[in-house]
Amino acid sequence: MSNENRNKKAGWNFDNSYARLPDIFFVSLIPEHVPSPKCIIFNHSLAEALGLNPEVLESKDGVEVLAGNQIPEGALPIAQAYAGHQFGHFTMLGDGRALLLGEQITPSGERFDIQFKGSGKTPFSRGGDGKAVLGPMLREYIISEAMHALDIPTTRSLAVVTTGESILRESYLPGAILTRVAASHLRVGTFQYVSQWGTNEELRILADYTIQRHFPEIDAADSNRYLMLLKGVIGRQAMLIAKWQLVGFVHGVMNTDNMTISGETIDYGPCAFMDTYNLKTVFSSIDLHGRYAYGNQPSIAQWNITRFARTLLPLIDGDHNKAIDLAQNEISNFSRLYHNHWLKGMRAKLGLSNEEQQDEALIENLLNMMQKYQADYTNTFRAFTIEQLHEMDLFNSSEFKQWYKQWQDRLNRQKKTKSSFKQLMQRVNPAVIPRNHRVEEALKASVENGDYSVMRRLLHVLSEPYAYSPEQVEYATIPSNCSYRTFCGT
Ligand code: AMP
Ligand code: MG
Repeated sequence: MSNENRNKKAGWNFDNSYARLPDIFFVSLIPEHVPSPKCIIFNHSLAEALGLNPEVLESKDGVEVLAGNQIPEGALPIAQAYAGHQFGHFTMLGDGRALLLGEQITPSGERFDIQFKGSGKTPFSRGGDGKAVLGPMLREYIISEAMHALDIPTTRSLAVVTTGESILRESYLPGAILTRVAASHLRVGTFQYVSQWGTNEELRILADYTIQRHFPEIDAADSNRYLMLLKGVIGRQAMLIAKWQLVGFVHGVMNTDNMTISGETIDYGPCAFMDTYNLKTVFSSIDLHGRYAYGNQPSIAQWNITRFARTLLPLIDGDHNKAIDLAQNEISNFSRLYHNHWLKGMRAKLGLSNEEQQDEALIENLLNMMQKYQADYTNTFRAFTIEQLHEMDLFNSSEFKQWYKQWQDRLNRQKKTKSSFKQLMQRVNPAVIPRNHRVEEALKASVENGDYSVMRRLLHVLSEPYAYSPEQVEYATIPSNCSYRTFCGT
């Protein structure tokens, strides 16, 4: 079959707008050849939404493409350059083990980056081998797809293939490549890179590109457009972080290179979902001082946005002090915007669709009690939603009983039917989240025994987290051991 025919059948429809940017932004190179690729998991519904043909991509030829051995027509693989603050320290980074194939234009005209993660060394690999291993790539697949189903903006996962290589980590592990799909891979760190090492003209090109791609509502001729870009990014991040907090998601490594401009969650390394409610929750073994703890995420996001704003200063105004004032003014809105999203979301979690002055106190009192009685975050709201308040110490305490009465009185003042506020709660309180012990169980069966059925079942129950289906009940069980640790799975 000719390359063109194969392409048509698979449904690839690439554009390469990023590769048309000036040279400073990327390096062109092709993925390393791998010995014997095998498809482990493939996302049919995502493929279809992208205009891709699952049957063709899962075939032998298709898997050669997903492993980087065949480059589909129209793709122009590049490694993107970026920098970033990692745990507060600025450094040059870039795609050290990832390659952007190009941008797939979907049948409805949307544009998505198609990126390989684990496809070999690049000029940005520093000491690394450019490879990825099966466990962490499946972990990213599971959690990113769970986030999507929870209605949280995120990069998606199209496929994981094994490469047939053994990769040395703490032991030899199966090599793998994840195909990641994203609105773009523009990061705060992309702007930091150009701000540090590029010209003002290159910075302007990047900012204009970003506006066109992610904020088309901003007028390209508006002299205020770079301030509007800052405002747009602030708005999206305020919304995103509120959504994380509302489901108890701990990203784990909120370095500026892991914060997108599009407002999607990116980079599922040491992330995990909180079980017992505690603002200090940290999972990552490398986050020794709790910089990226659950309760710190909003202030870290604001810190990252301040780094982003700094890069835009020369574009915002020729007068440096004036630019700082204008940017500072926007940044100072972040906490209010974040708090408004969070409060609205918390009200919904309690079935409240109108507003009363005392709501915040009601919510804070509940959270304080959850922390005191070490209540499971997800299951507390799940119990409220299904009205099964037993089993948890929290529910048996007299202070909770008092609080519960206040909450019921508040619900009754809404003059809404019970079924309407129960519906609201069911729409926002997940019956199931990717609990760490369940994710680990699925990964262990996959990596150690080649048994993918546990993962498939987990993916299935996570695909509709608000369904409250009978099969989800067993997935609500909390782990016996809460001292879970995650590792940056490189
Ligand atoms: P991450 O922790 O995935 O956000 O990656 C941080 C930086 O390390 C990025 O520049 C990655 O490309 C790079 N990196 C991570 N793992 C590897 C690897 N195995 N080989 C080369 N570079 C890597
Ligand atoms: Mg990263």
